[in-house]
Amino acid sequence: MLLFTPGPTPVPESVRQAMATQTLHHRTPEFEAIFKEARERLLNLFGMEECVMLASSGTGAMQSCVLNLCNRKALTINAGKFGERFGKIVTAMGKELVELKYEWNTPAQLVDVKEALAENSDIDSLFIQISESAGGLRHPVEEIASYVKSVNKDIMVIADGITAVGVEKIDTTNIDALVAGSQKAFMLPPGLAMIGLSSLAVDRIGDGVDYYFNLASEIKKQRQNTTAYTAPTTLIIGLNAIFDEIEKEGVDTLYTETKARAKATQSALESIGLSIYPKTPALSMSTVLDNDAEPIRKLLKTKYGVNIAGGQDHLKGKIFRINQMGLIAVYESAWVVNAIEMALSDLGRREFDGTASRTFNRVYFNEID
Ligand SMILES: *Cc1c(COP(=O)(O)O)cnc(C)c1O
Repeated sequence: MLLFTPGPTPVPESVRQAMATQTLHHRTPEFEAIFKEARERLLNLFGMEECVMLASSGTGAMQSCVLNLCNRKALTINAGKFGERFGKIVTAMGKELVELKYEWNTPAQLVDVKEALAENSDIDSLFIQISESAGGLRHPVEEIASYVKSVNKDIMVIADGITAVGVEKIDTTNIDALVAGSQKAFMLPPGLAMIGLSSLAVDRIGDGVDYYFNLASEIKKQRQNTTAYTAPTTLIIGLNAIFDEIEKEGVDTLYTETKARAKATQSALESIGLSIYPKTPALSMSTVLDNDAEPIRKLLKTKYGVNIAGGQDHLKGKIFRINQMGLIAVYESAWVVNAIEMALSDLGRREFDGTASRTFNRVYFNEID
């Protein structure tokens, strides 16, 4: 069965092998060397001054950013489940919230951010997804972050890059915290969260708040190549192994191929009459709006050996989402669009003539050249 859900993503064989070695003690020079290597590679990927790794799912990193980077009042962008989650965390942590809400196919608008900041001069932090996975939407983070910093550079800009880091090169010029998670574009099992930090963010964190999610304690320890509490050693070994895989062709090749696959998949789906859901699609996944979403998913799983994701909440049964994150063999993606065309034929919606895979191949190899 091909796993094509936008997280978790498949873990490459070499990475699973690397993680199958004997358990290491985390307070040893052997593990510190492994940690140091992973940390340097992460700093380089984030392109930021500091970074931390946390033993938690991505949501733990989101919460630690709310705790340590928002003093009093946060502005959050809610155009889906994950943006909504930032708002819920802010409220649960007892901080004030201004939330901009959008339909799940609609990117945040700069004018709304301008208005919110003008009306709330005490907003000290902005929380936004780069890629909102609920609808496969790309927010204009660069534009919004740049505006926020032009108003007041002390407003912390926290970008959830869980389905963006490792998908495309992120411009971190105006970003103070960039969140990533192991089970999405990093192709690792769940359980490791990573945060890239600007030096402004490190200053803001100061002595930190909270206990487990105190970022100051982690920064202090991680600069010494260790962690405040027991490190997720297996996942950090896996992180080095995935960097080894990515570096074989280079991270730029990963970005180019991901983009080509996303573009080719979108064109292929459109060529067989399907509609792309988000107004500004992210490269991390391809999302289709279709009333037959569930029958299509079921046929893919039972007849064609492909597992794709559906929608949540009001989009349950209305959309399906195809992953583009990670080192994916192009023939697998070509098979996915072909399988969708066959499913449409099974449902009596169109006659199969190979249009999807033909379009996919034409666009993909054109993009790659
Ligand atoms: C998956 C995801 C998260 C949450 O990650 P968990 O690891 O499930 O806690 C947050 N933001 C985005 C955009 C995601 O796709």
